[in-house]
Amino acid sequence: MLALDVGGTNMVAALFAEDGEDPVALASGPTPASRGPEAVVEAGAELLASVRSEGEDHGVEPRRIVGVGIGVPGAVDPARGIVFLAPNLRWRNVPVRDLFQRRLDLPVVVDNDANCAALGEWWAGAGRGSSLMVGVTLGTGIGGAIVRNGRVLRGVSGAAGEVGHVTVQMGGRLCSCGNRGCLEAYASGTAIAARARERVQEGSASSLTEMAESDPGRITAALVTRAAARGDALATEVIEEAAGYLGAGLAGLVNILNPDRIVLAGGVVQAGDLLLKPVRAEVRQRAFEVSSEACVIAVARQPELAGVRGAALTFRREVLEGHR
Ligand SMILES: [Zn+2]
Repeated sequence: MLALDVGGTNMVAALFAEDGEDPVALASGPTPASRGPEAVVEAGAELLASVRSEGEDHGVEPRRIVGVGIGVPGAVDPARGIVFLAPNLRWRNVPVRDLFQRRLDLPVVVDNDANCAALGEWWAGAGRGSSLMVGVTLGTGIGGAIVRNGRVLRGVSGAAGEVGHVTVQMGGRLCSCGNRGCLEAYASGTAIAARARERVQEGSASSLTEMAESDPGRITAALVTRAAARGDALATEVIEEAAGYLGAGLAGLVNILNPDRIVLAGGVVQAGDLLLKPVRAEVRQRAFEVSSEACVIAVARQPELAGVRGAALTFRREVLEGHR
C-alpha cells in the first residue's frame, strides 16, 4: 500500500507492506499549496513514485501495490473522495480521489488528516491496544478523531470528532469556524501565540519581547514554548491558561465517551509537562473520578509517521476489508 499525508507546508509519502506497520520506503517534500490543487497532486504523485521505486529496490514489486490512502487537512467526503474545504490549502470542492486515481492508475481512498493521524497512533503509537481513544492534534487549529476498536467513529455526516470546536467559554473569542468560545480559540498554537502577543502589547514584561526582536508580530507558539521552558513567567502563564481550557474541553470528552486513552499531538505538545501537568490536573478535577482514572493522557509517539500509517490503514479498512 502507498500512503500520502498532505500537510499545509509539507507532504510525507510512504510504502507499506501488506500488514507492516513500519514503512518500507519513505519520502517527504514541500506542499506547493500556493500553486493550486493540480500542482499539489502532481508533487504528491511524484513523491509516491519515488517511494514506489525505492520499494522496488527493497524487493516490493510494483504489481503488489494495491492502492493508495491519502490524508488531507480539511473536511472530506470519504465516500466520494472530495475535499469540501481545506483552509490551509485554500481548497474548496477538490475531487482529490479522482485527480490522484487518474495519475496513479490505482484505487485511492481519501480521508481527513486528523482521522489518519489518530488511526496511525492507535495502530503503532501511543494509542496501541486502546479500545476507545481520542486523538487531538494541537497545531494551527485543533483537529480531533475518535477511534473505537481501531475504527474512526465518523458520525452520521462524517463530521464527528471535532474536538477543537466544543465551546469552552460562552461569548468568548471568535473561532475560525465562526462560533465564539471554541477550544481552538484558546488552546491551538495560533491562540497561544495570539494571547502572548496580546499580553506583550499590553506592556507585560517578558523575555518574549527580546526573543521576538521587539516585534510582537514575530511571537509564535514555538517561541512561547521555548520562553516558558526557560522559566519566563508570562509565557508559562499563557501555556497554563491554554492547558486549563484544554483540560476543561477534554474533561467533557472524558465524561461523555469514557475513553481509555487521549493522545495529544502537534506543535503545542512540545511544551511537554508544562502543558501536560495542568491538563491532567484539570481533567482530574472536572471529570468523573471513575472516568478520569480509566483514561491515560499521553503524547503521540511517532507523529511524523502517524499520518501515513493511518492513511494506509484507512485504505486497508475501506478497500481491502470493504467497510468503513
Ligand atoms: Zn470553532
